[in-house]
Amino acid sequence: MSFDIHIVGGGLAGSEAAWQLAEAGIRVRLSEMRGGGDMTPAHQTDRLAEMVCSNSFRSDDAEHNAVGLIHQEMRALGSLVMRAADTHRVPAGSALAVDRDEFAAEVTRAVESHPNITIVRERVDSLPDHPTIVATGPLTGSALAESIANETGEGALAFFDAIAPIVHRDSIDMDIAWMAARWDKGGKDYVNCPMDKAQYEDFVAALVNGEKMGFKDWEQDTPYFEGCMPIEVMAERGPETLRYGPMKGVGLDNPRTGRWPYAVVQLRQDNALGTLWNMVGFQTKLKHGEQVRIFRTIPGLENAEFARLGGIHRNSFINSPRLLDRELRLKSKPNIRFAGQITGCEGYVESAAVGLIAARLAAAELRGEALPLPPPETALGALLAHITGGADTETFQPMNVNFGLMPPLPGRFKRADRKKAYTDRARAALAMWLESIPPHRQMGRGTISHSEMAEG
Ligand SMILES: Cc1cc2nc3c(=O)[nH]c(=O)nc-3n(C[C@H](O)[C@H](O)[C@H](O)COP(=O)(O)OP(=O)(O)OC[C@H]3O[C@@H](n4cnc5c(N)ncnc54)[C@H](O)[C@@H]3O)c2cc1C
Repeated sequence: MSFDIHIVGGGLAGSEAAWQLAEAGIRVRLSEMRGGGDMTPAHQTDRLAEMVCSNSFRSDDAEHNAVGLIHQEMRALGSLVMRAADTHRVPAGSALAVDRDEFAAEVTRAVESHPNITIVRERVDSLPDHPTIVATGPLTGSALAESIANETGEGALAFFDAIAPIVHRDSIDMDIAWMAARWDKGGKDYVNCPMDKAQYEDFVAALVNGEKMGFKDWEQDTPYFEGCMPIEVMAERGPETLRYGPMKGVGLDNPRTGRWPYAVVQLRQDNALGTLWNMVGFQTKLKHGEQVRIFRTIPGLENAEFARLGGIHRNSFINSPRLLDRELRLKSKPNIRFAGQITGCEGYVESAAVGLIAARLAAAELRGEALPLPPPETALGALLAHITGGADTETFQPMNVNFGLMPPLPGRFKRADRKKAYTDRARAALAMWLESIPPHRQMGRGTISHSEMAEG
């Protein structure tokens, strides 16, 4: 068959991308290895867009939650994943949970029956030379992973994540914490949260006793690389291990006491906007609820709001902020775009969203047109900007969509009003962006009109 673009991987991102391109009149070859004799360790079926674990697309609250907002933006852009999710919704309060079998069957049916899409059940083992979107996800086939690693260079493709929690900067109590670098070397680049002896000992005990997540059978060989050992594993090695490791207090004069703290938790800026701060050395397998409970005992983080909690999983992802241009193209091989979780976004929704935007950008390029990028005030634009440049390349780890990825709000808002202010601004920005795109380039019609988006 002849085709205009090749998509590798028929998961959440690849299926959405195929649909968007096909709706734009572009002929797609979609290669999916399941059903062709290969399987990943997590998938169970041959269906496209299989949800491998939970059946939830998380919050559907478009007024107060960044995930709900990105749902709304995707609906406005004619997302197949959102259409199928809405059709096969099951009761789950304000969350969007789905019947996973019906959901995947619907996506498969829609993609299979589209006249512009040919699905080929095959494994792709090297990066093609024609226009391609690579959407092979967290469990990318090993030969293709090797080909990507060869193209991108040493260390640019990770096989495991090691995620430390990320805190919204404006939720840190700076009456307790302070900015400084050890021995005053360099700029005052770290937020320091001090602990006395009793606080430190209680904290170490809480880490040791806290409930942990298990590894899946096929993740048992997860290597703990030097420098990314889980914080609780370090705590188990002995009461002083952390105090001589990431929680070392030496060289950090606390301006409130004039002394070094017994121990310290340091946070480092994680995005160019300065809104998100990373707990240095705190990658962890503690359960999410336990992380919130235990980390909020850290002086200065009592009211911490977490943009992302920690975790360690098998997960293939590239260093996107270093390797990709703003349109998700590989700088060294621009016929290749990446989409989905392999770009370093995290989750079903985010993966489908990056598939959607990768397809829109590819469609514009194939037609010889330029598509303005979605503004960073929108959830889609914020996620895209983060993975293609806003994130710190040195500490890059997978990221969920959240308000901390957006430019800070101008002016002051009461805490209770802030989330609504972010989503109102995002709706207005998306509506303006859609207005700026001539109708023939808007492609798949959404289920929400532009004026509805602006009104919220
Ligand atoms: C065990 C596990 C549990 C998870 N739980 C959740 C959860 O509860 N909630 C959540 O939001 N997210 C979860 N995730 C993350 C989730 O998998 C991703 O967010 C989402 O599926 C990623 O979408 P994707 O399209 O990028 O990748 P996938 O959906 O994984 O799709 C990639 C596709 O590419 C195919 N493929 C791979 N290599 C090749 C190749 N060489 N040639 C051809 N085809 C290939 C695969 O078969 C697969 O169908 C989990 C991930 C894992 C691994």
